[in-house]
Amino acid sequence: MNIKALKRRIEKLDREHLWHPFTQMKEWAEEPPLIITRGRGVFLKDIYGRWYIDGVSSIWVNVHGHGKKEIDDAIKEQVDKISHSTLLGLAHPLAAELAGMIVKIAPRGLTKVFYSDSGSTAVEVGLKMAFQYWQHKGNKEKTKFISLTNAYHGDTIGAVSVGGIELFHELFSPLLFKSFKAPSPYCYRCELNKKHPSCRLTCLKGMEEVLKKHHKETAGLVIEPLVQGAAGMIVFPDGYLKGVRRLCNKYNVLMIADEVATGIGRTGKMFACEHEGVSPDILCLAKGITGGYLPLAATVTAEKIYRVFLGRYKDLKSFFHGHTYTGNQLACAAAIANISLFKKEGTLRKMRPRIKILERELAKISEHPHVGDVRQKGFMVGIELVRDKKTKEPYPLEDKMGIRVCAEALKNGVIIRPLGNVIVLMPPLTISAHELNSLTRITGEAIGTVTGPACPAYRQAGGRQGRLVIS
Ligand SMILES: *Cc1c(COP(=O)(O)O)cnc(C)c1O
Repeated sequence: MNIKALKRRIEKLDREHLWHPFTQMKEWAEEPPLIITRGRGVFLKDIYGRWYIDGVSSIWVNVHGHGKKEIDDAIKEQVDKISHSTLLGLAHPLAAELAGMIVKIAPRGLTKVFYSDSGSTAVEVGLKMAFQYWQHKGNKEKTKFISLTNAYHGDTIGAVSVGGIELFHELFSPLLFKSFKAPSPYCYRCELNKKHPSCRLTCLKGMEEVLKKHHKETAGLVIEPLVQGAAGMIVFPDGYLKGVRRLCNKYNVLMIADEVATGIGRTGKMFACEHEGVSPDILCLAKGITGGYLPLAATVTAEKIYRVFLGRYKDLKSFFHGHTYTGNQLACAAAIANISLFKKEGTLRKMRPRIKILERELAKISEHPHVGDVRQKGFMVGIELVRDKKTKEPYPLEDKMGIRVCAEALKNGVIIRPLGNVIVLMPPLTISAHELNSLTRITGEAIGTVTGPACPAYRQAGGRQGRLVIS
């Protein structure tokens, strides 16, 4: 089949039978889709053979680039042995090896690994473990959770119950269990109308008020350490995370760290918790764990939690939870190869000068008259666009500013995806200095072209943006 015919066939099948995530399908169907057929390093190739920089690591998962030989080989080698066997009643070498590796790199005190297959399930597992822990301990009233406004922990019902992004979560509120909300440390738009650092972390006092009032009925506090990702890369002020750990201790509440996005090197350390020397009681991992090759997640817990579940079969203390593909052998093989590469290639060390380059380039972008705030932690970047820099007035949703900037960048060979008015950059950790410069230059130019005061495109809707919409 020639390329044109193949493209027509894929477009037709996609339009007729495929429902894309977080996508307004009516607008999707109005535009030809970008069809990806290959990946190499930080690049993705479309069906016509055009190459693009994968500027968001295929939605925050890719770590060592596409087509990384060590990970490809590990998967191929494993396919020849076996692709999947269950962990219900059976063991296999890779699940055990990987568990040992994860415990070795995880913050101190975390000793047991429970596998599942997505970030949402890693969080569900963490919530249910925390709940059941207190039930067995005899603190039967500890059944609730505390989370932050602007939090994102996944799209299953339990994970949405501890979520705090109105745009995604509000509609489902009748389905959710109630959780208590503490103020998000979003300094650029402080909920408490304070200024950092003179505020001395008033948001932490807000958190303490919630704990003071509800700790007796609270099983756990769920938090994305250091960066609230899906809310627009909201970076915490220094000391906040450490303060949260201290409060969890003080009020006897389990700390559940959702490092699904921040974990596995993304912030410049293996885990975001390390930046403030914090060890959570439960750690949730997914996205980058396999290097972005296969779905796998892990919920890692402290020994004290695990121990409470021990007893005789008839005691009914087992953790009654499991997903069919738990500990999939191919996914474990990919994860082992990915984590091994950190040491072998010095991934984190090599990131350091590139984080500096990113900082320098972002400083230029922050000068732009319609860039209100630039937030960065390692290779997690959010560029918040505003209509008015002085008043911080946001662009209205219907202007689709973020979407339009990304559509413009796409024309110049960069694939990025916005979160509302926030442009996200999240390249693979192995991106070269040269590629990083291209990514930031093209992004900066796209912001200029779309938002620039002289830009006639300002009111022009249309183009390709419909396909990238979050709604
Ligand atoms: C992406 C994400 C999740 C959900 O992971 P899925 O694999 O999409 O279910 C949970 N928490 C955080 C912090 C995330 O960024």
